[in-house]
Amino acid sequence: MIQKTYPLSKSRYIRGLQCHKSLWLYTHKPKLRKESNAMKAGFQQGHDVGEVARDIFPGGEFIPFDEVSIDEQIRRTQLALKTAKVIYEAAFSFGGVFVKADIMRKVGHSWELYEVKSSSEVKEVYINDVAVQYYVISGSGVPIRKAFVTHLNKKYVRNGSLDVKQLFESYDVTANVKEKQAGIKKEIAEQQKMLAGKPHPTIDIGPHCSDPYPCDFMGHCWKNIPYNSIFDLAGNGVKKWALYKEGIIRMDDIPLEKLKGQQLQQVKAYLDKELVVDRKGLKTFLSDIWYPLYYLDFETFLTAVPPYDGLKPYQQIPFQYSLHMQKRAGGKLYHKEFLADPNCDPRKELLDSLLDEIPGDGCVLVYYQPFEKARLKELAERFPKKAKQINAIISNVRDLLVPFKGRALYSWEQQGSHSIKKVLPAFIKDMSYEGLEVGDGGEAIEAYQKMCVMADKPEELAKIRNALLEYCCQDTLAMVRLLEVLKAKAKEA
Ligand code: SF4
Repeated sequence: MIQKTYPLSKSRYIRGLQCHKSLWLYTHKPKLRKESNAMKAGFQQGHDVGEVARDIFPGGEFIPFDEVSIDEQIRRTQLALKTAKVIYEAAFSFGGVFVKADIMRKVGHSWELYEVKSSSEVKEVYINDVAVQYYVISGSGVPIRKAFVTHLNKKYVRNGSLDVKQLFESYDVTANVKEKQAGIKKEIAEQQKMLAGKPHPTIDIGPHCSDPYPCDFMGHCWKNIPYNSIFDLAGNGVKKWALYKEGIIRMDDIPLEKLKGQQLQQVKAYLDKELVVDRKGLKTFLSDIWYPLYYLDFETFLTAVPPYDGLKPYQQIPFQYSLHMQKRAGGKLYHKEFLADPNCDPRKELLDSLLDEIPGDGCVLVYYQPFEKARLKELAERFPKKAKQINAIISNVRDLLVPFKGRALYSWEQQGSHSIKKVLPAFIKDMSYEGLEVGDGGEAIEAYQKMCVMADKPEELAKIRNALLEYCCQDTLAMVRLLEVLKAKAKEA
């Protein structure tokens, strides 16, 4: 009997390398796939970076793919190979696999192959990606002399117009790619055989579900993992996959002798529906808070390609803050906020506004201080004339995360997490992030990016602005309420 063959592409092959079941589901049950917003954003980012990288070797011939058949793409590539010195998105098919090469450059009578990645390092999965391209292109009769992974240079700092040659670094992976050639034909045959079979291969969940990429079929394969499972255990300690192999899935079933430290505390608190209060720890934390007190939260966005001067790839750019203020304990609550206009460098205006509000002697309370401190330090580097004032603020920053992370106060409802999104509903029943139009940092970035493309739609722009302001305000108001909880618990007999 002749086995039916399924079209494989570079990305399908890589999916199959991660998990055969994922490739089978992708081919036969695509409706089960759930692509998160982060996955979509990552894909778009990769696409954008790929376009920018073409300027490393400008003037190349582009092989279009939108609404152009595979056969036509291959035909145009064959023509370009005869005349062009550089080709973008060259298309090849060999051994049942179709690939598009980001950049190919002719050197003498052979070609160099460049695979562009929006990451800032070389990963094993990228080498597999280049290896299958090398296999297909060489198999098509086109000689490849060298193969590279081209990634962002994390040390690059933009100064004026974008210097694409400095923004990227190319890493020669020719030797690694050649080493992998022997196994590719076999893997393709195995993937084809697996795809022809029904039902899907029996593959259990495992660390491969998120390595190297988070799998978009987790909603399907993980549906029987209950709420409060071993995968909700916080921190390092017991090996979750070792427990899973023993058949232990629910938190209730973990033998307590296998646990220690915070994991033991988490499970005991969950079993007894307990609240853990360390009054001494709470008092120590509270003794270091003073008034006037400023509750501060930044929202930031980041892009692979730095949009403004003084920025590196993926550097966080603050575009919004919320600031609640109390002059004395239990005193009136004041609120200030800033949200940048879209499509401009927001840093100077944001900083000026912030420095107008926070004096050098106020206590500045944040949730997870490395984040806010790093943003403030970056602003000080960018605007050295303001550095003294900014550094005074940095030295006054205190971290509300500390008592929750250190479990001076811990509720079983936090499920081991000390994220404010989990802590808040555990202690403040009348406040929640559920139902907010913007409900987390990722959605805030998306909302701001939407604002940037809606400059000519004032009504929609105003709606998104309000959602962002509401979200950021909620973060600092949450801190106000949580500090009240800490004080009340510290006082309880
Ligand atoms: S969720 Fe895990 S087991 Fe299921 S398809 Fe994805 S990688 Fe494979």
